[in-house]
Amino acid sequence: MARKASSTHRIGEMALGALKQIGLSATPQNYELWYEHVEGRTPDLSRDIQSALDENGKINQSTVDKLYKDYIQHADLSKNVIDLMTRFESEVTDLYDVIEKTGENTIDHNEKLTDLSGQLRQSTEEFPAVGALLEGVMSVAQNMRAQNEQLESRLAESTSEINSLRVSVENIQAEAMKDALTGVANRAKFDQFLEEHMAAAKEEGQELALVISDIDHFKSFNDKWGHTTGDQVLRLVAEVMNSNVKGKDLLARYGGEEFAIVLPDTSVENAQLLANKIRQAVESRRLKKRRTDESLGTVTMSMGIAGFTDEDSAEGFIERADACLYAAKNAGRNRVFTEADTQANAQENSDEEKQAGAA
Ligand code: GH3
Ligand code: MG
Ligand code: MG
Repeated sequence: MARKASSTHRIGEMALGALKQIGLSATPQNYELWYEHVEGRTPDLSRDIQSALDENGKINQSTVDKLYKDYIQHADLSKNVIDLMTRFESEVTDLYDVIEKTGENTIDHNEKLTDLSGQLRQSTEEFPAVGALLEGVMSVAQNMRAQNEQLESRLAESTSEINSLRVSVENIQAEAMKDALTGVANRAKFDQFLEEHMAAAKEEGQELALVISDIDHFKSFNDKWGHTTGDQVLRLVAEVMNSNVKGKDLLARYGGEEFAIVLPDTSVENAQLLANKIRQAVESRRLKKRRTDESLGTVTMSMGIAGFTDEDSAEGFIERADACLYAAKNAGRNRVFTEADTQANAQENSDEEKQAGAA
């Protein structure tokens, strides 16, 4: 681990050195790109950088921005996050070491200088000949102070660079957990959140409800109005749902036109009340085409709800909610089914079959 941090730091320093040499500022983006280049794990990137440099010995910021887009932004986000975090951690650790040492030295020097000049002043009064010596010492002291100030300002610069690096890590992390189309949490966030709250529910003996919803007949909606309009409707549905999901609850886009809501500390009955409120809110929206105002009618949603039990794996818990969703679809769509509703419905169906068989 220590070896890893030191090699990370070495590559980081080489990247910063290389940026300085070609006159580029060490912004988090440039740093990230050059780190990748120096590390040598992306030969195509290194080749592109080299050929741009070979042409005129320089590389302008717009070329660099394009390389960043091609090689970093479009790369695997989770890998970027982990890489950046590792770099960030080692930079911070190193920097703190330096700050601590420098701080101690500065205090030490300043105390000694103050002492010394105090003593020398006294001596000047008694022996005027010491005056010249005092001037010399004071000019050395001033130099030292100036150097310290310079060092402090360099440290301040580094700290601010590290801060922007941290902000960029946090942004990447937040983006990696968001669904690009709707802006709500994505499947990765959902999985993480569900696992966390299942563990908490188990530990604290609290309830935990899961709602899985799916837009009804969305394929024919897309076929009729086009995929782009379908996307706009997905965004609107997410917005309507999100405005009803508050506090510690999580709304996530679970799949294409499926959204899930995780409700910690919530009974199945209360989850059903919320799910029905959302279902009605979605159903009551009169959809319009954005540019032409043409009416697109309405969309409805079906939902299934399960309550967590201690024996559930995440997979099993999701499957139980999914089975309720499936039953709600079969029962005619635009409805919310719990496991009790699903069983009651199955009973009704089998009674009807028996009656039909008897007739
Ligand atoms: P059901 O009532 O049984 O759910 O019918 P459905 O047509 O909604 O169900 P199905 O699962 O067969 O089809 C889901 C459709 O959702 C397929 C696709 O047209 C649409 N869809 C999935 N993801 C997206 C997306 O990101 N954008 C758009 N516009 N449509 C999507
Ligand atoms: Mg579906
Ligand atoms: Mg559907």
